This record gives sequence, C-alpha cells and structure tokens, in this order.
Amino acid sequence: MQENGRTHSSCFKGSEFVAWLLKGKHTSSQDEAMLIGTKMKEHGLLYSVTEGQEFKNDGTAYKFKASDHVRGHTEEGASWNNVPDALKNKNIRHEEMEKLFSEVSDMITKNKNAHIPDMLLDPLNCQMYDHVRPMKWVDPQAQDGETYDMLVIGAGAGGLITSLFSGAYGAKTCLIERGNFGGDCLVTGCVPSKAFIKSASVAHQLRTCEEYGIKIKGEIEVDFPAVMERMKKIRTRISANDAAKRFTERYGLDVFLGHAEFKGKHEV
Ligand SMILES: Cc1cc2nc3c(=O)[nH]c(=O)nc-3n(C[C@H](O)[C@H](O)[C@H](O)COP(=O)(O)OP(=O)(O)OC[C@H]3O[C@@H](n4cnc5c(N)ncnc54)[C@H](O)[C@@H]3O)c2cc1C
Repeated sequence: MQENGRTHSSCFKGSEFVAWLLKGKHTSSQDEAMLIGTKMKEHGLLYSVTEGQEFKNDGTAYKFKASDHVRGHTEEGASWNNVPDALKNKNIRHEEMEKLFSEVSDMITKNKNAHIPDMLLDPLNCQMYDHVRPMKWVDPQAQDGETYDMLVIGAGAGGLITSLFSGAYGAKTCLIERGNFGGDCLVTGCVPSKAFIKSASVAHQLRTCEEYGIKIKGEIEVDFPAVMERMKKIRTRISANDAAKRFTERYGLDVFLGHAEFKGKHEV
C-alpha cells in the first residue's frame, strides 16, 4: 500500500484489492469483488487495520491474516482461576510459594525477578490476569536469525500503541512484556485512580448536596470494600482491550512474554 510516498508492504487498500480482483479477472464485476471482500472479512481471512469497519472500496487499509505462522497464545486450559489451593494459603513460606508457582505458571521462569502478585487470588483479578498475563503463554516460533522491522520492549501504554500502529501499517512487529500487558496505566495508574476519583467525587457531591437544595436523611458512609470492588470490575473490563491475545490475534503482532535483554546492537 502506498501512502504519503511510503510503501506499507503487508497492507493494502480496499480499492487496491477490488482493482486487483478485476484486473486479474478473478471476478467480473465490482459488486462481486465487494462481495468477496465482505465475505473474506466476515470469515476473518482479511481484517481492517482500524477496528470495526466493513469492507470498503476506498482507502481503508486491510491485511491478510497469516495462516502459516504460529502465533503466541495461552496454553490450553491455563487460567488463573485454576490456581491450586496451596497457592492461596497466605501462611505459605515465600520460597515454597515460588516453587509451587513455577510449576503452574511460566511467569517466574521467564522473568526471574517477577513477584507473585497476591491479587491473583481474587476472582476479578484472575480474570484480568488471564487477559494481560496469562498463566502460561506459548511464545511464537521465532526462527534463528529472525528479524523484525520493529521490536518493542514493554507493553505499557507506550509500547501498546507503538506496536499496534507499527504492525497495522505493515511493519513486521514483535512485542515483549515481562510483567503484564497494560503496564502501570491499567493496574496501578490511570484506570484505578479514575475509578477512585469518581467514588470520591460522588461522596463529595452527596455531602455538599444541601447547597443544591437537596437533603439526605441519615449518614453518608463510604464503603471502601465496595469502592475497591467497583474499581476491580472496571479494571477487569478494560483489561480485555489490553489482552495479549488481542494484540496477537487482532493486530497480528508476535507477542513474547518474558524479560527482554539486548545481546548486541541488533539482537534481543
Ligand atoms: C496514579 C496514577 C494515575 C495516572 N493517571 C494518568 C492519566 O489519567 N492519564 C495519563 O495519560 N497517564 C496517567 N498516568 C501515567 C501513566 O500511567 C504512565 O504515563 C504510563 O503508564 C506510562 O506508560 P509506559 O508504557 O511508558 O510505561 P509502563 O506502564 O511502566 O510500561 C512499561 C512496561 O515495560 C515492561 N518492561 C520493562 N522492562 C522490560 C524488559 N526488559 N523486558 C520486558 N518488559 C519490560 C514493564 O513490565 C511494563 O509493563 C498515571 C500514573 C499514575 C501512577
């Protein structure tokens, strides 16, 4: 695909696809070409670079879904909700926990400095972690000497958007994360803080509502566990957008989970 004088090798425009079908006599009419594009999109054989668009005969960018490459994926059946009871025992010694933990997840084996998050023991957080740091992740099959146009270390707010656009515009892109997808923004930063600010703002409005001619009989109480629960529900819902699986399946990136280190100028 040509755009602003640059070539994006693995992307094409809807109009280019229609023209190619007609020129190669793969179809006899524009309507039929549109139908082929629409059906291929419906069946996931091609997808639009920007989400949620129908197949269009215009400048919208599309990519074919590669079928010959083993993508990163969650090991079948692995879910944090299946964490063994032994790991839920708060009195367990740290070393023992690390040993047990390494048996059920590749989190520590792939990043020796990973800490075992207590929050995994909560069902909502388990669901979030299933999205952003699956219990066991099968990395893509990188061949010896495999090269990428773009290699991004860290799937926080910065890395996610960089890799997404780089991949979407045709660069062969790899994304490596040693902790959780979404980084600080999802787990401890933007998302939880906004949920708390909203609860605080509602409490403030209720406490000052007399200024607005509204009376509340009785005490206004803040139920902090309920505030936490609401935050966790929001965070878990949003975590689906940051899911490792989404970045590999939807955006076609090679996602590796583990600690990345430079071995040379061009080698990680
Ligand atoms: C309380 C709070 C509220 C905030 N609210 C907002 C807000 O409303 N709006 C806003 O825009 N910003 C907000 N921020 C800031 C925002 O969270 C940060 O700017 C953003 O998270 C930074 O993203 P990042 O990708 O640069 O870094 P990070 O989120 O830190 O991501 C870096 C990632 O790289 C990974 N990594 C690091 N080294 C390696 C390695 N060697 N191998 C593999 N992976 C590695 C880490 O595990 C991590 O996931 C807030 C921050 C806080 C603390």
